[in-house]
Formats: sequence, structure tokens, C-alpha cells
Amino acid sequence: MKDEIKIVRVEINSSGSAYQLIDMVSELSGVNLSSSKDGWSWSISSDRNFNVANTRRCIDISYLQEDSVNIYRVKLLPRKVNVFLSRFVLDRLSTRLNISSRGLEINDIRCLFCSHSVESLSHLLFSCDIASGVWRKVRLWTDIQLPTFDDCDSWFYWYQSVQLSSGLKLRIYNIVAALVWILWKYRNAFLFDPSRLKKQVLFDLIRMYSYNWLSDIGHVNISWNDWLIKPL
Ligand SMILES: [Zn+2]
Repeated sequence: MKDEIKIVRVEINSSGSAYQLIDMVSELSGVNLSSSKDGWSWSISSDRNFNVANTRRCIDISYLQEDSVNIYRVKLLPRKVNVFLSRFVLDRLSTRLNISSRGLEINDIRCLFCSHSVESLSHLLFSCDIASGVWRKVRLWTDIQLPTFDDCDSWFYWYQSVQLSSGLKLRIYNIVAALVWILWKYRNAFLFDPSRLKKQVLFDLIRMYSYNWLSDIGHVNISWNDWLIKPL
């Protein structure tokens, strides 16, 4: 089909039209027309080409931008765990309460495990019987004065203010990161496929994940057997 150029003439018959014309001329003054073919441009990449790595980085930044989650940008953790933790800090995980609060229809917002409380993040990962049982085991294992936390804020406050060496804090950070990560995985398994993950292995998984994350970047100078007995 032959290209056509249509010319539309508009009368400038009011001050409004005149201003619009001035605005349009001003907008177009920075536009350089080229004779090359039109194409798509990916604005978040410096070379304007789409690539998965840049897109993923952009998504991560949008999740991790708040100052309050700076502490969670720990390079030693897998990317998906970091994203999970930042959503955990901001209470943006898809708990039943959060899903309901966003206006999505959901039949039941009670805790999947106990049905005694609304499934909020603080209940699920801190005060539900399953969570508090896991925290208790971790508290005994680490053998430090780890307080009972009500929610993410109280944990975050304690972690920032506790006077311990940076090496110990790094270990504690990894252990708690593994704890909430494993509890969340268990919750999802419980919901979608209970055979995938058993309650009896949660504590063992926390010890294994936290050790592996530290080992991956050479930040642990302790044997696996010693870690099982006394990690701090
Ligand atoms: Zn519960």
C-alpha cells in the first residue's frame, strides 16, 4: 500500500489553541527525526536493547529500594532470598491477610497451621505455635540471649542495636534469614503440597541453609559438625 501523508489544518482561533501550538512546537524542538526505520527501544538499558539481566536488576532495585531494607542487601545470599527478605521487611509477602487487604476475594484469612489467628506475617513467622517452636530451637542452638520477637520490626531493631562482633552478627543474620525463609517455604508447601516439606526437618534445614550460605562465600571458618553443636 502506498504511504500517504495527511495534512490536517486547524484554525488558531483562541488563546487556548495558541498556547497549545506553542507547547507543541516547544515539545518538538528537541526531536530529531531520522530517516531510519522505527523500532522498539528498552529505556532501562544503556544500549537501549532488551536483556534479561538488566530487567532482573531493575526489578530487584524496585523491591530493594527502601532504606530500611539496606541491611538485607547481603550479597552472600541467593538473589531470590534477598528479594524474599526485602518483601518480608516491608510486609509484602502474600499472606492471607495481605491478599485480603488488597481486595482479592479469599474464603478464609485464618492461619493455615492453627486457625486461631489471622494469617498475618507476624503471626505466621513469629507467634504461631509452629514458628515459636522453631524460634525456640534456634534460640537453644545458638546459645545467646536471643529475645522473643513479636514481629519483623522488633527483630530488626534488636539486630541493629545488639553489641556483638560483625562476624557473629553475620552468622546470626544468616540463621534468622534461613529461619524465616524455611518457615515461608513450609507454609507454601503446607498450602500446595504438604508432602513436599515436613515439620520435623525445619530446624535441620535452617542449620544447613545458613551454613551453606556462609560457606559459599568463604565466610565460615567452622566445620559442619561444630556448626551443628555451637554456631556462634
Ligand atoms: Zn497460626
